Amino acid sequence: VNGHSGTQPVNPINRKKLASWVGFSNLPNQVHRRSMRRGFNFTAMVVGESGLGKSTLINTLFETKLYEPKQIPAPGVDRGRTVQIESISADIEENGVRLKLTVVDTPGFGDFVNNDESWRPIVDNIEARFDAYLEQENRVNRLKLVDNRVHACIYFIQPTGHSLKPIDIEFMRRLHTKVNLIPVIAKADTLTEEEVVLSKRRVLADIAHHGIRIFQPPQYENEDEETIQENEEIISKVPFAVVGSDNIVRSPNGREVRGRAYPWGVIEVDNEEHCDFVKLRQMLVRTHMEELREHTNDILYENYRTDKLKAMGVSQDESVFKETNPAAKQAEERALHEAKLAKMEAEMKMVFQQKVQEKEQKLKQSEEELYARHREMKEALEKQRLDLEDKKRRVESGRPLTPEKGTKKRFGIGK
Ligand code: GDP
Repeated sequence: VNGHSGTQPVNPINRKKLASWVGFSNLPNQVHRRSMRRGFNFTAMVVGESGLGKSTLINTLFETKLYEPKQIPAPGVDRGRTVQIESISADIEENGVRLKLTVVDTPGFGDFVNNDESWRPIVDNIEARFDAYLEQENRVNRLKLVDNRVHACIYFIQPTGHSLKPIDIEFMRRLHTKVNLIPVIAKADTLTEEEVVLSKRRVLADIAHHGIRIFQPPQYENEDEETIQENEEIISKVPFAVVGSDNIVRSPNGREVRGRAYPWGVIEVDNEEHCDFVKLRQMLVRTHMEELREHTNDILYENYRTDKLKAMGVSQDESVFKETNPAAKQAEERALHEAKLAKMEAEMKMVFQQKVQEKEQKLKQSEEELYARHREMKEALEKQRLDLEDKKRRVESGRPLTPEKGTKKRFGIGK
């Protein structure tokens, strides 16, 4: 039909011209409208020692007071012994687009004398969220999946100007296969420009040396020039040197800006020449939020799910076969259901028999008791009858009745 020779590939793409407007070019609009109706959700986790500016940065990113200023405990105050996991959600809206934003904070991370296991509660939390999703997928009704998986983890590195600390490396090594890691150098305004450059170089070298995979905007083929350049600019800033601030200050040219004022000048949060906040926000919110969600679902979650199923003895092929073959899936479900029913029936039978046995035992016991009482009563009556007959005989023969013991005394007989 398409005029190719016999050596053609299977299913060649057959481009056809349409005679008139059919309408499926409206599909993107339909998808758009549906997304607008449903809204989006995004879960970001922040990890790093207390006081590195995590809450401030989240407030700055989403232009909302998600976090109130924190009371940092004085040195020596007991803050507990473990890393806590706390999450805050907010529904925010911009130009009619609804976003349910959840921020997972991890207070306590790196704050103790011994931080060896600081990463563990965080891994547990991320896996628990994967498990909750997996559990929903396995339900009969999978229509409304709630996605509480962590889509990005912003990891705050202390602004020391040095390379990574052991705790940073340990955390990233444990987490990089489970979450999109976005390392940032915190409070970059406390470093000089040269220190920032040096620090970034050292951090990247450490990350490469330890084989840690951090999130990078993927470069697709046939992307337009502008997008390619945008991505390259973002990549060139990693790890983002960020400054957060809830305060409005006056810049030297009289503008009101978000920033931090110092005797030697003003650091502007939204000025790309001052820090990388703008690039971080661009990646996280403006250009790659969907990419982060997709990568979480398609790669990180999928790997976790495969490992989990494998550990449970279900090979991927088997489960894919079942997923793609409704008959096999149904047969398996039916077998499972029948096994469950048979087990329930056996259990019910057992309980029933036990109850019957107990009842029989009780009946037998009361029967025996009844017999015994009956026998006793019969014996007592028989004895009474014999006594009476004896008395009667004696009365009739004229012999006096032998008074019972003690009666003689009472009536003065025999004195
Ligand atoms: P968290 O414990 O990591 O959530 O830290 P906070 O956001 O509560 O910030 C702790 C302190 O650091 C507060 O006094 C903030 O005003 C300050 N802070 C936050 N971000 C920055 C920053 O980028 N630069 C500087 N110099 N201070 C910051």
